[in-house]
Amino acid sequence: MKICVLPGDGIGPEIIDQTLRVLEAMRGDGVNFEAEFALVGGAAVDATGKPLPEATSRLADEADALLLGAVGGPKWDSYPRDQRPELGLLGIRKQLQLFANLRPAILYPELANASSLKPEIVAGLDILIVRELTGDIYFGQPRGIREENGERVGFNTMIYSESEIRRIGKVAFEAARKRGKKLCSVDKMNVLETTQLWRDVMIELSADYPDVELTHMLVDNAAMQLVRAPKQFDVMVTGNMFGDILSDEASMLTGSIGMLPSASLNAEGKGMYEPSHGSAPDIAGKNLANPLATMLSAAMMLRYSFNLEAQAARIENAVKKVLAAGYRTGDIYEPGTRRVGTKE
Ligand code: ATP
Ligand code: MG
Repeated sequence: MKICVLPGDGIGPEIIDQTLRVLEAMRGDGVNFEAEFALVGGAAVDATGKPLPEATSRLADEADALLLGAVGGPKWDSYPRDQRPELGLLGIRKQLQLFANLRPAILYPELANASSLKPEIVAGLDILIVRELTGDIYFGQPRGIREENGERVGFNTMIYSESEIRRIGKVAFEAARKRGKKLCSVDKMNVLETTQLWRDVMIELSADYPDVELTHMLVDNAAMQLVRAPKQFDVMVTGNMFGDILSDEASMLTGSIGMLPSASLNAEGKGMYEPSHGSAPDIAGKNLANPLATMLSAAMMLRYSFNLEAQAARIENAVKKVLAAGYRTGDIYEPGTRRVGTKE
């Protein structure tokens, strides 16, 4: 198991350090890994002038999986476009064809008060959003702003090929098969042809997954249902743009951004694993960051890239135990619990 470790910027290095301690503790339990460190984002810009240096690209190719902290920060906001830290991540996604973005939103019972919704609506919430990450209106051509009849006109193209829809659909059906066997595909087929094709292909695919119940929902309704009754969902699958919005919405249901992991996978199951939150420059270097999202991302890495289900569950259970024992970093602290730092 060769893991390319990308600490990145802000709180990235702190949360990665602590996550590597967890993985170290699991050596001898089938988690026999080699960690290779590489630069990405602002740290890479500072050292080499590029957010994705060649050495990092090479290591990303060689490794079996990538574990990332976070990139970006105010320091690089004023840098030229080609030196933006985020380009490092976009570059790796493109290089490795990481088209499937998996974002679980889980509400741990101990944190029910952290949500902005009533505990009875979210307690026990456990959903997985599968977002397509390399296509859709974000990348479609033609695009631009042009002059037309004496005014400016902006335009983008929403486009998906059958094969792109099928490969993300497969990832979602497979994930549903391993979970609650329910898949909700989200589209806007009443208005957008691209998503009519999306729905047709999902229905065709469902013939291969008779054990998974497929339903469809229009995106506006899905946005509403996520707030009204989120527990009706198990796995949701959708395109790049709808997935961007719905996965942020779902993460807020749990109220604790420091707890949410993510995985971005390619067709071979190779993936990049990272917390859903950003580099949190406001708390960087102060031992305040919650490392659990990164540890849970490492659990996803063991599950999806190395097929180590029992070991992944071991990390997830350890997180539950720590919460049950009352330990909290500042982001999830409430009176009556015990405040601890990143390292503790
Ligand atoms: P990005 O654009 O990279 O998504 P962002 O500006 O949306 O970044 P974050 O960096 O995720 O935001 O931070 C948002 C807020 O949440 C900040 O106040 C930050 O301190 C807090 N935060 C984010 N991650 C954590 C964490 N792991 N532990 C504690 N607080 C966190
Ligand atoms: Mg953000």
